[in-house]
Amino acid sequence: MSTDLFIRNVRPLGIDLVDIHVSNGRIGDIGPGLKPPTLDAEKIDGSGRLVFPGLIDAHAHLDKSLLGLGWQRNEVGPALRDKIDNERRMRVERDIDFHQQTTRVARRYIEYGTTHIRSFVDIDTDIGLKAFEGLMRTRQDLRDQVTIQVVAFPQSGMLCRPGTVDLMEDALRNGAELVGGLDPSTIDRDPARHLDEVFRMAEHFDVDIDIHLHEPGDLGAFSVELIAERVRAVDWRGRVTISHAFCLGGIDEGYLQQLIELLLENDIAIMSHGPSGTGTIPPVERLYRAGVRMCTGNDGIRDAWGPLNMPDMLLRAFLLAYRNNFRRDEQIEMVLDIVTNGNARVMKLDKYGIAPGMPADLVIVDGETHVEAVIERPPRWLVIRNGNVVARDGTLVDQSDPQDPASGP
Ligand SMILES: [Zn+2]
Repeated sequence: MSTDLFIRNVRPLGIDLVDIHVSNGRIGDIGPGLKPPTLDAEKIDGSGRLVFPGLIDAHAHLDKSLLGLGWQRNEVGPALRDKIDNERRMRVERDIDFHQQTTRVARRYIEYGTTHIRSFVDIDTDIGLKAFEGLMRTRQDLRDQVTIQVVAFPQSGMLCRPGTVDLMEDALRNGAELVGGLDPSTIDRDPARHLDEVFRMAEHFDVDIDIHLHEPGDLGAFSVELIAERVRAVDWRGRVTISHAFCLGGIDEGYLQQLIELLLENDIAIMSHGPSGTGTIPPVERLYRAGVRMCTGNDGIRDAWGPLNMPDMLLRAFLLAYRNNFRRDEQIEMVLDIVTNGNARVMKLDKYGIAPGMPADLVIVDGETHVEAVIERPPRWLVIRNGNVVARDGTLVDQSDPQDPASGP
């Protein structure tokens, strides 16, 4: 049970200085000049700092990270297949401990103020459920500090690697909350059958769907149509995310407008993370302003695919803004809305935000404005989860290492 907190002088986005009373893990009163509670409460003076709701990553791959294993010299080839095959080879050769690696990266996420993560987990016929089992242990170990939603993901292909569907079903029976799909034409080379299988599992296990779609231009757009057809057929509206959707930036105007209407009709969300590279990306602002549910995440963190990403959602906000050439404050505020409220909607967190009655998930940082904090990315002064302080000055409060029985309280 958390103790009560009385946080004075902090500034939520768009609001002047307020005090926040936290009781039983939830936000109680919030407003300027609140009377301090008479009962015992830890008093925290925010001194005018900024407060964000708990940050959310709606697209992570905790199982892929090589964080803490020394610098991984990256010499991977340019094609998607090169990266998939290189990773499969490397993790068998190195005998990756998925519990250790997912714990390492999740703990860093918490230090950066993240309270919720949707993580894909690779399921294939080489590693079976090893990565899934490691991630599920981490999810349990860290449940008081971060909520991890798990997607059973056929990274190496699904139909093209017989046995993968059985393993995905095992994961779904044992706690995976979503079913993933991957490039139905270019990886499995059988889009209708791939998507039919994904939707069959979704219906059978009554779970949401998140599909990686890297396919470019008209080919990817055709996959979007096939996904929308299936959403309509089984009424999976509001339950499907298409991640990356690079194709939406590579089709003509008339077709794009048609697909936007299809996304809206079927309430399909789009995940875009402002990737590096020169390929097309979805027009984030246009989709957002049209009312398409948008979300974002870091994708892989320091893994065999590349070393560029970090588990910091303010950095992700910066990169999404940078890649989309957003310069106006209102555009960067839109990105912050995607990182917080957009990600919360996609993850179905119906209680989220800085308001009375919401879980007290708060991140407090130095800074003049929230937009400036995206650019400066100050250390997280305080991270609060369900009313408990879980990190201070960018460092976890609980330093015990779950891998090391000798450490910890
Ligand atoms: Zn991904």
